[in-house]
Amino acid sequence: IMVKCCSAIGCASRCLPNSKLKGLTFHVFPTDENVKRKWVLAMKRLDVNAAGIWEPKKGDVLCSRHFKKTDFDRSAPNIKLKPGVIPSIFDPSSHLQEHSYSVMDSPKKLKHKLDHVISELEDTKKSLRNVLDREKRFQKSLRKTIRELKDECLISQETANRLEAFCWECCQESIERDYIS
Ligand SMILES: [Zn+2]
Repeated sequence: IMVKCCSAIGCASRCLPNSKLKGLTFHVFPTDENVKRKWVLAMKRLDVNAAGIWEPKKGDVLCSRHFKKTDFDRSAPNIKLKPGVIPSIFDPSSHLQEHSYSVMDSPKKLKHKLDHVISELEDTKKSLRNVLDREKRFQKSLRKTIRELKDECLISQETANRLEAFCWECCQESIERDYIS
């Protein structure tokens, strides 16, 4: 016999021989389709493979942790759920559950968010390109100025060479940066 596990996301409850002593009971999904639907929706679980809402298979169970104390009928030795009760306690801190919930909630909204992030990334790339272009233009005009200064004998050939070399270094750096990005 396979050990039954709770179907709720983020719940590690397994049906073991000592479970009942610990006050943990396991409950199969209702046969009433309407109530079953309500259980499934309350669970907010996605079936990634089917790209839809998770559907319980025969024999799948939920553990007693997901039901309120008042949901149980304890009149008989075998603890039962009262008819028609819906599970209401699921771990809200479970990342997976939250994630599934938002996907289930609105795939359009999620797509919109993604588009927004992509466009922001494009904007960042564009402004980075602008900075590099501006730097190149600056270097070009700097070289021109160096030439002019030298032509008018305002700086020596040696100074001009040094400035040119400095310019060339800057240029190499930005080329490397361009290459990386
Ligand atoms: Zn559980």
